[in-house]
Amino acid sequence: MQSKGKCIYCGKLFSGSGLSRHLATHLKEEPVADRKRSYHLVVDAKPYFLHLLMDGDAEMEELDSFLRAIWLECCGHLSKFSTARWGQEIKMATKCRRAFDKGTELWYAYDFGSTTELTIRCVDAYPTATKEGIRLLSRNEPLDIKCDHCKEKPAEELCTVHYGEDEVFFCEACAEQHMEECEDAEYAMMPVVNSPRMGVCGYTGGQIDLERDQIEA
Ligand SMILES: [Zn+2]
Ligand SMILES: [Zn+2]
Ligand SMILES: [Zn+2]
Ligand SMILES: [Zn+2]
Repeated sequence: MQSKGKCIYCGKLFSGSGLSRHLATHLKEEPVADRKRSYHLVVDAKPYFLHLLMDGDAEMEELDSFLRAIWLECCGHLSKFSTARWGQEIKMATKCRRAFDKGTELWYAYDFGSTTELTIRCVDAYPTATKEGIRLLSRNEPLDIKCDHCKEKPAEELCTVHYGEDEVFFCEACAEQHMEECEDAEYAMMPVVNSPRMGVCGYTGGQIDLERDQIEA
């Protein structure tokens, strides 16, 4: 399953490396700023992805906050960046320009209990400033997840006690029916959201780009 994302500049849909190449055509046109650099980052948690432009002077802490706000935050767990899963930790106060260069790949983890792991790859760097610190260039469009019960309508909820079984995702009507049959459903039903943390811990959705965060806006 390869997910697609819309280009923030022109609204066209692309998938995979086609999106990276396309965004580069816009990023080359960004105004040149003296002694500034901005980094095109791809955050990957297949099939979920984000394309970001990050100012070289912004700190990793800002990237951490952004990832929490769009994909991860449930109850204030710890997180960290490092060069690899067992690699060297990169401090939150590190500037983006010190952490990334073209081709750099970092590892990120949120929550060391029910961990969500991401990789962050720097596609390229540009001589431009990103005034807002971090700009969302694209993200995967909501995945097409169907109800496991009626196999027809879009899924809106999942039952976390049934992970790995035949029926996990439910549309609104089938969720109601499942609530009656499943004794754990009261605490186990979670919303379907556009995030690699869907169904994990208490995660119920993000705080930015809400339009593409849930199945129904
Ligand atoms: Zn475009
Ligand atoms: Zn949590
Ligand atoms: Zn259904
Ligand atoms: Zn259930």
